[in-house]
Amino acid sequence: MKANSASWFAGLVALLLTSGSAIGSPTQPIVVLDPGHGGSNPGTKGAGLHEKQLTLVIANLVATKLRAANITVELTRSDDRTLTLRQRVAIADRRPADLFVSIHANASPTRTQRGYETFVLTARGVDIDGRALRSDTTTPRPGVDPEIALVLDDVERGASQWEAADLASRMQRSLRDRRGKEGDRGVRQDAHHVLLGATMPAVLVEVGFLDHPVEGKELADPAVQQQLANAIAEAITEQLAD
Ligand SMILES: [Zn+2]
Repeated sequence: MKANSASWFAGLVALLLTSGSAIGSPTQPIVVLDPGHGGSNPGTKGAGLHEKQLTLVIANLVATKLRAANITVELTRSDDRTLTLRQRVAIADRRPADLFVSIHANASPTRTQRGYETFVLTARGVDIDGRALRSDTTTPRPGVDPEIALVLDDVERGASQWEAADLASRMQRSLRDRRGKEGDRGVRQDAHHVLLGATMPAVLVEVGFLDHPVEGKELADPAVQQQLANAIAEAITEQLAD
């Protein structure tokens, strides 16, 4: 960015901070839940269960809890279908959603690991170079100059990262309350968990290791599935209330 545009940029940031609703956030919050895998992509397996089945069950339970709290929920899939990452993100961007939560279960090569962890999903471009990598992925904004739209995206992505980190900590905290602190693998962020194109805060929660001989059986238990759903729903509700 050119030096003489710095004050213009600061003005824009101030405008954004004072008129968040002008960007188009609806009064009722919208959460997109993404049951991991599906269709020809079953994910990991254990305890007679495929990851794609477990994630759909938990996502539906979370959706029920959130809807009861007057939160609008959209699922990226409500049946056993194959979806690309890009399709999942497109669903989230269409609304646009306030939060995006992808639900997964884990596996380890020796089947000895257990516990839960939450990834902050990185919008590619935040930590690399502002715009270069995603000039083709910018969401069109009606009535907004394309150049300004790019800057708006950058500002939103920066804020989204903080909110996502916040949501990830809440997720771990509420899972810890229900699943015990020894299973807490923490909040993580890495280069592989990229959510290309999405501007809302996004996290990916790994609820446990499906291939672990003990934890896998627990994950197959409907009571534990409800417990996990309660934890995820609580973290989301608290985040939206903040
Ligand atoms: Zn997965």
